[in-house]
Amino acid sequence: MEKPLILVTNDDGIQAPGIKILADALEPLGEVWVYAPDRQQSAVGHGVSLHRPLRVHELRERWYMVDGTPTDCVMLAVRDLLARKPDLVVSGVNPGANLGDDVTYSGTVAGAYEGMLLGICSFAVSDVSYSPVHMETAGRVARAVAESLLRQRLPKDTVLNVNVPDLPYEELRGVAVTRMGKRDYQDEIVRREDPRGGAYYWIGGAEPSHVEEEGTDFEAIEHRKVSVTPLHRDVTNYGALNALNEWALSL
Ligand code: MN
Repeated sequence: MEKPLILVTNDDGIQAPGIKILADALEPLGEVWVYAPDRQQSAVGHGVSLHRPLRVHELRERWYMVDGTPTDCVMLAVRDLLARKPDLVVSGVNPGANLGDDVTYSGTVAGAYEGMLLGICSFAVSDVSYSPVHMETAGRVARAVAESLLRQRLPKDTVLNVNVPDLPYEELRGVAVTRMGKRDYQDEIVRREDPRGGAYYWIGGAEPSHVEEEGTDFEAIEHRKVSVTPLHRDVTNYGALNALNEWALSL
């Protein structure tokens, strides 16, 4: 049987330590091909570069750097550059949580999301610490998830968002299948002045908190568990369909 073909990407750039850890962890499972951005692309979401050309540089065998977003990387690799469709797309390991509403901003999740849209079994993996010291743990978890996804397919239109506590592997307390929780961002807008008197702004602030709820990705992490959230392609609020129909919007 042909070796599984695994496409790896990230949003922190091809030089980031997390992608090396991920590619190394997946190597025993198949042929790993890396297509990743040439620079930091965190929080680009599912952005795609439509208004400029993209260049691809081979760094070494099966490692390619793209001057685009994680979505660009997956799109180019799958639609054109790889000899065949991958069996798996894995995005990460991201240094920093992608929990709750983070998934809508996340370039890491978007890389996997694009894989799902292209009909490939895909997942994103993050170490929840913004200054991780146990990223190899997330690598080992990614290998376990990848192994099981190569055996059994995900349900249609589903992408997995995996978050891993920043702990030694032996200290993990298992895996929880979770739902997406809710963030409570406290981003402040910092206004500064440039040397010529013009204003510029920084979006940022303290590490975000979250709403305490049962069954969520946040809860799993608090309990030192790996959180696996199945995200659905369809973000329609079905509960709102009736209410909206009752508004009798008409033209
Ligand atoms: Mn990132």
